[in-house]
Amino acid sequence: MSQAPTADFSRNLWTHTAEPPPETPQLVGNASADCVIVGGGFTGLSTALHLAEKGAAVIVLEAEAPGFGASGRNNGQVIPAFSRHNPDDIVALFGEERGEQMNAWVGDSASLVFDLIRKHGIRCEAAQNGWLQPAHRASRMVGVRAKQSQWAKRGKPARLLDGAETEAMTGSPYYRHGGWIHEEGGHIHPLGYSRGLARAALAAGAAIHGKSPATSLDRAEGKWRVQTPRGSVSADTVVLATNGYTGSLWPRLRQSIVPFRTFHAATAPMSDNIAGSVLPGNHGLSDTRQELWAFRKDQGNRLITTAAPISPFGASAKIARTTKARLEEAFPQIGEIDIAHVWEGWIAMTPELLPRLHELAGGVFAGLGYSGRGIAMATAMGASLAERVMGAPASAVAPPPSPIRTLPMHDIVAPLSRALIGYYRWKDGKG
Ligand SMILES: Cc1cc2nc3c(=O)[nH]c(=O)nc-3n(C[C@H](O)[C@H](O)[C@H](O)COP(=O)(O)OP(=O)(O)OC[C@H]3O[C@@H](n4cnc5c(N)ncnc54)[C@H](O)[C@@H]3O)c2cc1C
Repeated sequence: MSQAPTADFSRNLWTHTAEPPPETPQLVGNASADCVIVGGGFTGLSTALHLAEKGAAVIVLEAEAPGFGASGRNNGQVIPAFSRHNPDDIVALFGEERGEQMNAWVGDSASLVFDLIRKHGIRCEAAQNGWLQPAHRASRMVGVRAKQSQWAKRGKPARLLDGAETEAMTGSPYYRHGGWIHEEGGHIHPLGYSRGLARAALAAGAAIHGKSPATSLDRAEGKWRVQTPRGSVSADTVVLATNGYTGSLWPRLRQSIVPFRTFHAATAPMSDNIAGSVLPGNHGLSDTRQELWAFRKDQGNRLITTAAPISPFGASAKIARTTKARLEEAFPQIGEIDIAHVWEGWIAMTPELLPRLHELAGGVFAGLGYSGRGIAMATAMGASLAERVMGAPASAVAPPPSPIRTLPMHDIVAPLSRALIGYYRWKDGKG
C-alpha cells in the first residue's frame, strides 16, 4: 500500500525553515560504546547529550535522521504541565514524596529546554514568553483555576487571566472566558531544536548515525548488541527512545502504548497587519479541549495548528477544509487564506496519560508515552535516563520506574483509538 502524502517528511513545514542538519553518517562496521541509544528524537538526543557531558561513550542509532519522528513535526509548544493531571492528582497517585518529585520534574522541564537552547546556542526560533491555556467554554474555568492555583502553590509563575486579558493576549474573540499562563513555557522550531540537540550531543562527543535502524537486540559476550543493516554496536547499556515510532525491537514495549497518528496544518504567510492581531504577543496556546486545539505562529507569519480527523483517509483535503472552519471560528480576522502545509506524525499515548520510564532488563532502559506533550517532558526524560544509565538510584530520579503493562488485544484496540476523537469532541461541546 502506498503511504499517505501527509506522511512524506517534506510535507512538514518545519523541513522548509529549519537550520540544516548535522552530518550523521550511516553506521558501517562494528562499534562499541558505554551506551547505545535507539531513536534520535528529543528523548534519545537529550539522553545522548546528558550522557556525553558526563563522560560516557555514546552511540545514537536513528532509522532516518535526527528529528524525523514526532520531534521534528510537532507544534513546538514547550509546556511544563501534565496534559490531564493537576499536581494534587499526581501526589494522590504517587504519594507525597514521589508525587512532588514528579511535579518538580515536569514543572522545571520547560526551563530545562530553554536553558539547553541558550547554553548550546541552538537556533530554533525559541521564545520563552509563556504558554497560554484559554478556556474554550465558561464552564472550563473551574479546571483552569485548579491547574493555575496548584502550580502557583508550588512556586511556579502561573497566572490566572480574566476574559478581557485572554481575549487581548490571544487576539481571539472566541477565547473570552479567561484562562491561565505559565510564564516558563513558550515555543520553539521543533526540527531546529532537534537538529540543535544533535549538534550539541556531537560536540560533547556522542556519535549519531542516521539511516541506521536497529533491527535486533540481544546479549553477546556479556554485553548488549544492537544490529543495524550494515553494522552493530555492543554496549553495557541500551536506551530505547522510539516513542510513537516503536517497532518490534522489544515487542512488549510497542504493546504497552497506543501509537496515535496526529495531523498538523500551517497557513500560508499572513500579512504583517493580520499577523499582528493574531496572538499579538507571539504566544503559543493550547485550549482546554480534549480534542486539542493548539495555535502558534512561526517567524514567517504562518499560523500552525492541530488537526484531528476521526478517519485519516483523504486527510489532506479534509484537514484543509476543517482548519479553515476552525480559523474562521477562532481568528475571523484572518479571512480567506490558503492552507499551505498538511503533515502527520505519531505520538505514544498511555492509558493513564503519564510518561513512563522502564527498566526492561538489566541495563536496558526506555522512556516514552508523553501522550502528546513531549517537548519539555522528553527532554527531561533524557536527563533522567542519563542519570539512571550512570547508576543513580531509581529513588533519586523521576519518573519512578514502572513495569511494562501491555494492553490486552493491542492490535485491535490501538487502531480503534481514533474513535476517541469523536467522544472527546462530544465532551468538549458539553457545558
Ligand atoms: C503533530 C504533532 C504535534 C505535537 N505537538 C506538540 C507540542 O506542541 N508540544 C509538545 O510538548 N508535544 C507535542 N507533540 C509530541 C512530541 O512531539 C513528542 O512527545 C516528542 O517529540 C517525543 O519525542 P521522542 O524522542 O520520544 O520520539 P520521536 O521524536 O518520535 O523519535 C523517535 C525516533 O525513533 C526512531 N526509531 C524508531 N524505531 C527505530 C529503530 N528500530 N532504530 C532506530 N531508530 C528508530 C524514529 O525514526 C524517530 O526518529 C506533538 C506531536 C505531534 C506528532
